[in-house]
This record gives sequence, structure tokens and C-alpha cells, in this order.
Amino acid sequence: MPKTRQLPYGEKAEPALNIRLAMEEASRCLLCDDAPCSRDCPAGTDPGKFIRSIRFRNFKGAAMTIRENNILGACCAEICPRERLCEKACSRCGIDKPIQIGRLQAFAMEQEKLFGMKILEKGAPCGKKVACIGAGPSSLAVASELAKKGVDVTIYDENEKAGGVLRYGITPSRLSDETIDQDIAAVEGLGVKFVMNHRVSAEELAKLAAENDAVYVGVGLSASKMIPNMKGADKKGVTTALPFLRAARTGKIAQGSLGKVVIVGGGDVAMDCASTALQLGSKDVFVTFIETRENMPASQKELFYAVDLGASIIPAFKPLEVVGDDAVKGVKLASMDGASSMELAADTVIFAVGQKATDDYKAVKMGGKIWIGGDLLNGGQTVVAAVSIGKGMAKAIAEALKI
Ligand SMILES: Cc1cc2nc3c(=O)[nH]c(=O)nc-3n(C[C@H](O)[C@H](O)[C@H](O)COP(=O)(O)OP(=O)(O)OC[C@H]3O[C@@H](n4cnc5c(N)ncnc54)[C@H](O)[C@@H]3O)c2cc1C
Ligand code: SF4
Repeated sequence: MPKTRQLPYGEKAEPALNIRLAMEEASRCLLCDDAPCSRDCPAGTDPGKFIRSIRFRNFKGAAMTIRENNILGACCAEICPRERLCEKACSRCGIDKPIQIGRLQAFAMEQEKLFGMKILEKGAPCGKKVACIGAGPSSLAVASELAKKGVDVTIYDENEKAGGVLRYGITPSRLSDETIDQDIAAVEGLGVKFVMNHRVSAEELAKLAAENDAVYVGVGLSASKMIPNMKGADKKGVTTALPFLRAARTGKIAQGSLGKVVIVGGGDVAMDCASTALQLGSKDVFVTFIETRENMPASQKELFYAVDLGASIIPAFKPLEVVGDDAVKGVKLASMDGASSMELAADTVIFAVGQKATDDYKAVKMGGKIWIGGDLLNGGQTVVAAVSIGKGMAKAIAEALKI
């Protein structure tokens, strides 16, 4: 099957706007009095305000509006599902097409980087100490909000680098390490300390609670779900989405080594697996899921991206069995209406059917000095939702600590 577009692994999918294009795009803004886009950003960013700044060539003002509201302003600009958030609310939707808010946000964040703007300042020490477990979006939001109030914050994470799913999940052509580094540098600039390669056990959680004024648990949903009793799921070549994406991002999958790939699942994570496999040189990538094409959970943008790279989509089929000897040779599928069945040849099968909390954190409860947020609290949504929860939790922690 020929690929419709060649995109090497890690190469940026969406080109950046230059100054001329950014000013042109900003000038399409209707400058609404009560800008609806500003109400529809979960992180509380005010696109109406930063777009106005870009129109007047006040790029620092634009970067300040974004950064002060959202510590992950650069990452969110790249990967927010903005077509169902701020851009969906844009008044120009009723005229022609919405303002490209995400791309204008990316432009302003690019200016921050180019001109080395330092926007956030840490607060004067208030004498309080907080530990955050997990260095994903929600902990980063909590940590930066508290550091602005002068709290001494330490983040603990089991990985080598900070970012959580941003760093080890989302495919790098949608979100580069450079963009993640820019946001992490803003957190570090607030004096937040990072203890990496350190997994916090349930016992250590109690110890951290004793040593700190509060502990925030932002460990996300780090374990993969699997279809119960799936026959053949233990064969060589069968994996789940998170280990697959992590292996790809850490350079552990050689180009062309995956062979024919079948992905089970119809969400954005499945689409990330498909585009990753294609960028790693697979010629045949099939994505199959139980929903119809109209009802599949993936956003249109992620679906079109994967299809554009060459993925084939098989909706309304469920997997019956992974077949093969020691190694996988294919997947048997049956249509949801029971009318037909088929077997797809495969060397690699990736189940992308959801994430869950790890065993040691699934029972953790909010109360006393323990606070919880991000995917662990909302069951897994978006980065901007994790930032929003983190901001809310930081406010609640500050109130509880009377700072
Ligand atoms: C493949 C994939 C693609 C996605 N694409 C998008 C997208 O395009 N747009 C979007 O908005 N959202 C997307 N999401 C959702 C988004 O990434 C999450 O909602 C967000 O990352 C949640 O943030 P978090 O801080 O709660 O958790 P996480 O990002 O999961 O971070 C938790 C961190 O805690 C660490 N940790 C876990 N247990 C421990 C422990 N015991 N000790 C120390 N550290 C620990 C983990 O290793 C991880 O680094 C995607 C999710 C996935 C899985
Ligand atoms: S953070 Fe995301 S939702 Fe909010 S304005 Fe920016 S792109 Fe839109």
C-alpha cells in the first residue's frame, strides 16, 4: 500500500507561522467584546488578549498572557484538541473558518524562546514545603503555581526526563523534545527541584507526607489496559500502546523493524501508534476498532494525520484472537454485526484500548496532606485539562496552608 505522505520519525507535522503569516492570521480576529474563545480554554488562557497583542506586534505581551496562565503554553499550543475547545468557540466559525489560535499561541511561544524572555518569577520564600509525585502536566502545573507563591517544591519522577506522557507518549512529530524542554525550563526557572529516576512507593508516599506540608499525587495512568481473555495476547510481537510509544521515543525501535502492524483501538492513542509505526518505516499499518467510523473516539485531526501518512482504517470489527506460533502471525477479526470475519497478517500487534492507574496508586485517596489530580483524578482527558486541575489543586493547597 503506497504511503500518501512521507514524514520521517520526529519531523514536525505542522509548520510554524512566520511573523507575516502570524500577523495576517491575527488580523482575521473580530476582536469580540466578550470573546467566546477565552471562555473555552480549560487552562484559563485568554486567546482574545494574546491575539490582540500579536496584532500590535507586542509579542512579549502575547507570550506573557499565555505563560502566566499556562505553564505548558508551548506544549498546549502544539497538541491541544483546539478544534473542540477554543477554536470551536471562535466567532469566525459562523463566517468562514476559526482563527488558528493554537498556531498563534505556538508563534508567541516561539518568540519567547527566540528572545530568551523570562516571564515568571518565583515568589519570596513562605516557609512551606510541598512534594509532587510524577513530573507530568498536572504536577508541573501544581509545582509552578505554588513556586510563584514562594513554596519550596520538589518533583519526583521515575523517568530520566520530566514531562510524563508529553515526553514518553505523544509522537515527536506532533510534540518535539525542544518544545517540552522550553516549558520545563520555565518550571525550573521558578526554582522547582526535580528528583528523576526515582519511583515513589506507597510507603515512601507516607514518609513524604510526614516530611512536607503537602504531597500532590500526579502519577497519571501509567499502566495499559488489555481486552480481558484475549487469546494469543502473550505471543512475541504483541504489545500495548504505552510501552510501544515509549520504546519509539527513546530510540529503541529500529527503522523498518516492525513489519506489518495491526493496531486495535480507535482513540487518539491508537492514531499516535499508527503514525509512529508508519514513520518507523512500516508499509502496512491497519487500525481496527469496534465503533463505526462516525462514532470512533479519535479526533478528526489525528485520524486524518494517520490516514494521510498511509494508515488503513477498519471500523466496526472486534478482535477474536491473535494467531501465530511463538511469534504473532496475524489477528482474527469479526464484524460487529456478525456478518463477516477476516484475518489480517501481522508481525506486530499493538493494543491501544485504554490506560489505568498502576496497582500501587489505584487506591490512593485525597485527604489530610495528600492531594490528587491530573489523569489519576479525571480518568484521562487532555494536557490542558490536567493543567486546569493542577491550577485548581494548587489554589486549594495554598488556601489549606494559608499562603
Ligand atoms: C499516547 C497518548 C497521546 C495523547 N495525546 C494527547 C494530545 O494530543 N493532546 C492532549 O491534550 N492530551 C493527550 N493525551 C492525554 C495527556 O497526555 C494526559 O491527559 C496528560 O499527560 C495527563 O497528565 P498527568 O500529569 O496526569 O499524567 P502523566 O502525563 O501520565 O504523568 C505522570 C508521570 O508520573 C510518573 N509516575 C507514575 N508513577 C510514579 C511513581 N510511583 N513515582 C514516580 N513517578 C511516577 C509517570 O512516569 C509520568 O512521568 C495523550 C495521552 C496518551 C497516552
Ligand atoms: S491552551 Fe489550548 S485550549 Fe487554551 S487557548 Fe491555547 S490552544 Fe486553546
